[in-house]
Amino acid sequence: MTHDAQLREELIEYSQRLGSSGLSVGKSGNLSVRNTQGFLITPSGLGYDELQPADIVQVDHDGRTANQPHAPSSEWRFHYDIYCARSDVHAIVHAHPTYSTALACTGRAIPAFHYMVAVTGAAEIPIAPYALFGTQALSDAVVSTLQNGNACLMQNHGMLTVGATLSSTFALAQEVEELAKQYCEALKLGEVKLLSDQQMAEALEKFKGYGQRV
Ligand SMILES: [Zn+2]
Repeated sequence: MTHDAQLREELIEYSQRLGSSGLSVGKSGNLSVRNTQGFLITPSGLGYDELQPADIVQVDHDGRTANQPHAPSSEWRFHYDIYCARSDVHAIVHAHPTYSTALACTGRAIPAFHYMVAVTGAAEIPIAPYALFGTQALSDAVVSTLQNGNACLMQNHGMLTVGATLSSTFALAQEVEELAKQYCEALKLGEVKLLSDQQMAEALEKFKGYGQRV
């Protein structure tokens, strides 16, 4: 199997996991992975269960999708712009999971309420301002919000994570949704105690030392 064929299979596997893990229901959410020609992304309008390797859309380095059987996900622009802006990023997961989206609909970022926030590579999970889905304005908002770290919320929309592989990026999306759930629960109880910049700097340093996570 060629490397691209493997990447197509992997995209399908994780698209289906988006549904089965509860990160996204129906056709919401999309995933992509970088390849030598540009990146591969899930198509627009097809359910996860019906996806075949040939349905995955190749977007080239100029953002073109010539001779493809389907249109790319309507959110392909921010995938394209993130790959251009961040050479360290090789995979992107975008979803509308319940708790991350609930926070995003109140305009909240996820602050340093738990040391595990540092698993995203930053001291908080920031929120990109609202812009209509599929627009350059949304892409610009996401790219500028993602300057540090590997995760962000998207106001009145959802969340996204970026990373070195589809598997680690998907795991980070699950981690962010769990943190969002914990933060929502903590907010219900009252005032949430936040960690200091120094405490988060220590946690960030320790995650770097472990390479990935504890
Ligand atoms: Zn979306």
